[in-house]
Amino acid sequence: MSFPHHHLLGIKQLSRQDIEAILERAAHYAQTNRSPQKKTDRLAGKIVVNMFFENSTRTRTSFEIAAKRLSADVINFNTAVSSMNKGETFGDTLSMINSTHADACVIRHPQAGMVEEATRYFQGAVINAGDGAGAHPTQALLDALTVQRHKGTLEGLTIAICGDIKHSRVARSNALLWKLFGSQVRFFAPEGFTFPEETNKDLGIIPCSTIDEAIDKADVVMMLRVQNERLEQGETHLDPAMYNESYGLNHDRLRRAKKDVIVMHPAPMNRGVEITSALADDPQYSVIFEQMEMGVAVRMACLDLFINN
Ligand code: ASP
Repeated sequence: MSFPHHHLLGIKQLSRQDIEAILERAAHYAQTNRSPQKKTDRLAGKIVVNMFFENSTRTRTSFEIAAKRLSADVINFNTAVSSMNKGETFGDTLSMINSTHADACVIRHPQAGMVEEATRYFQGAVINAGDGAGAHPTQALLDALTVQRHKGTLEGLTIAICGDIKHSRVARSNALLWKLFGSQVRFFAPEGFTFPEETNKDLGIIPCSTIDEAIDKADVVMMLRVQNERLEQGETHLDPAMYNESYGLNHDRLRRAKKDVIVMHPAPMNRGVEITSALADDPQYSVIFEQMEMGVAVRMACLDLFINN
């Protein structure tokens, strides 16, 4: 059966079956990525264009590695020196790439909704690599794959997501995914960094008023960075030492969670702020670098399924 989608815009557009198909393929790639023969020809002859209008280390690198492992040719569109700086519109830039018959555009953009906008101009597969505070579907998928490897299931879990929820596309995409599998998501955010009540209701999450309440008997604790680059007028930068003291995760706090809890972070981490360095590097709990490994596998699965659909 062929995969039913052409673009990957968000978790919202995917069904539980779609997610299971992506994760099954990703689990296969996670295995081959650890073997000596990592490369396949699934995307031989295809061209993938990476367009990152916002900073990225993991996502951009892992999409490029993923495409190359599948034998696609990769163009890194350099947004800093592109004609958009000469006044060309986003739509014209995408139409120009469309006229080259490239097979996919992987797009990150600081504004929510712009990746979906790209589908108006580009006929190949459009893959959302993070749009503002909107969606980050491949992050939620790689988080799910990492959790599945440790917990053996995606169902019936308690997931605590703590930090700057308000500006987080990661929190939003994760909440949508876990809802499909009947796992409970709890959010904790410092005052001023929460979602509005209606968003919490739509996402079906449980808001908590302290980090301790959120992580109580949790199977998974996911920490988020304060997205300083997305703070709006009137929103204040929080003092890092105060943040760590009041809202940061450390070994002591983690004792409230289940004994076999795993600690996650989409990264980049601010060590000593939302998480202590000792915990981030503790192999008993932290799966943060495994998340990055699963990022390559999930992005291989997505490029494969969405381009070859
Ligand atoms: N890497 C994640 C993102 O792109 C999280 C972050 O930047 O804090 O949204």
